[in-house]
Amino acid sequence: MKTDIQIAQEAHALPINEIAAKVGLSSTDIEPYGNDKAKINWQAIKKTLATKHLGKLVLVTSISPTPAGEGKSTMTIGLADAINNQLHEKTMIALREPSMGPVFGLKGGATGGGQAQVIPMEDINLHFTGDMHALTAAIDTLAALVDNYIYQGNAIGLDPDRILLKRGIDVNDRSLRNITVGHGSKFNGVEHKSSFAITVANELMAILCLATDIDDLKKRIGLMLVGYTKEDKPVYVSDLGFEGAIAALLANALKPNLVQTIEHTPALVHGGPFANIAHGANTVIATNLALHLSDYVLTEAGFGSDLGGQKFMDFVSGHLDKKPDASVVVATVRALKYQAEGTTDSLSTENLSALRSGFANLKRHMNNMRNYGIPVIVLINHFATDSENEISLLQQLIKDEGIDSVVVDYHEQGSKGGVEAAKAIVKLANSGLGKLIPTYQKNDDVKTKIEKIAQKIYHASKVEYSEKAKKDIHELEKMGKDKLPVIIAKTQYSFTDNQKLLGAPTDFTLHVKGASLKNGAGFIVITTGHVLDMPGLPKHPAALDIDVDNNGKISGLF
Ligand code: ADP
Repeated sequence: MKTDIQIAQEAHALPINEIAAKVGLSSTDIEPYGNDKAKINWQAIKKTLATKHLGKLVLVTSISPTPAGEGKSTMTIGLADAINNQLHEKTMIALREPSMGPVFGLKGGATGGGQAQVIPMEDINLHFTGDMHALTAAIDTLAALVDNYIYQGNAIGLDPDRILLKRGIDVNDRSLRNITVGHGSKFNGVEHKSSFAITVANELMAILCLATDIDDLKKRIGLMLVGYTKEDKPVYVSDLGFEGAIAALLANALKPNLVQTIEHTPALVHGGPFANIAHGANTVIATNLALHLSDYVLTEAGFGSDLGGQKFMDFVSGHLDKKPDASVVVATVRALKYQAEGTTDSLSTENLSALRSGFANLKRHMNNMRNYGIPVIVLINHFATDSENEISLLQQLIKDEGIDSVVVDYHEQGSKGGVEAAKAIVKLANSGLGKLIPTYQKNDDVKTKIEKIAQKIYHASKVEYSEKAKKDIHELEKMGKDKLPVIIAKTQYSFTDNQKLLGAPTDFTLHVKGASLKNGAGFIVITTGHVLDMPGLPKHPAALDIDVDNNGKISGLF
């Protein structure tokens, strides 16, 4: 069987101006990066966003991820190809850019799989158009400017031990979680503790994903909380005057990247916050552009309904020009059996009782999405090892809940592998039934927001706050910032904060460890359990399988 990268490398890409033309963009609207990638220029962005047309928005999420694989990106891309090429409806995809951390770590590439991929897959997974590098440069320039400000006299009296901004790198590197800077003589700066978060978890990534234009980008950067003075006074980036330079570093990265699927559906791949430790959706500019340029937009929220799904519905959708019209929950027989068994050892053997008990995980995710008031459908991503008995049992279990499902095989067959699913999604998106019911109210305080998400989405019975979390929340109240939306950082593997508890646990406590203000992004990050904003590498990192030959041909990216 061919690998994802082999299939992608054999695919024939159309020149990027032909892809742009499919959605009415001319060659003067785009800035090509080679033949198969382009950024959309500001003039075209402004002109497009001012138009009245808005397509239908379909959000794809999934069951809790397992090592068995769910194929959420594969389904998003396959579905878009099917609506575009089988139903001949003008369709676009809005997806996140992969982070190099997981590409070289545990997960591998993030451009879909089999016949349902965005291309050029190696470029998108590695340096692409340089957005991630621009972000890393901006994050570290800001950290250096702050340290230099302290070294050069520190007029404002910023306390070096209370700097909240982290350094950044788009690499999984556990050794950088806690560091000391300025070590040695006084010529090396003022010694203080510092830390790195992976680029995609930094507030600047969230800001890039939410900013509506360069002015908004600059304003949000200025609002970022740097830290506190010894007298407990908050210091913002605008107090130090660094927002112009940092916005200049990011201005190009704010323009969406246009690429195509193997079947030539136009795709905007732009911005990449993780859904466990950040808000988990591609840029607002890209999704809005796609909505104005096409009739159907497929976008993806990272991980399950408890992470990307919840964050999209309660937070991201409020920044978009429209709310989702339909949502899709992706499930596989294999992953549901894993939810029951906790091992990948016998997933290829028929096991109806494991499927029946693992279904509890899907049941909770699909009901969570349905409770948002947006019509939902389950897409069963077919694997060659699924038995007919398993597929029909799963469809029956879903039907018993009053939700429709369709079995698709986009991975093997491309858009032809799910025409019925495409028709069902189009029908659902046009049903006009969607009316978003949020999990919490805007005016709820931070604890009420956390508790509503914990009860309604995770199904926790209790929320416990550490002493640090209580102190952090008190600080937010003092600053009058305790009514902002919350972005909960939690393991993706479980509805609880313990990654080992699979299925659909009930009667558990959610442990809140801290709350930090992301004032430029406009939310509060709540950390739970043992989740970290700088991942480590596994014993056998994906990097060990990646190689390049003397012609520059890359292999092993999955
Ligand atoms: P997610 O977005 O949920 O992380 P992806 O779409 O990136 O998942 O897919 C993860 C991996 O699983 C990819 O390598 C893809 O080729 C593989 N995959 C997805 N669907 C199938 C399938 N039906 N059969 C075999 N492999 C699949």
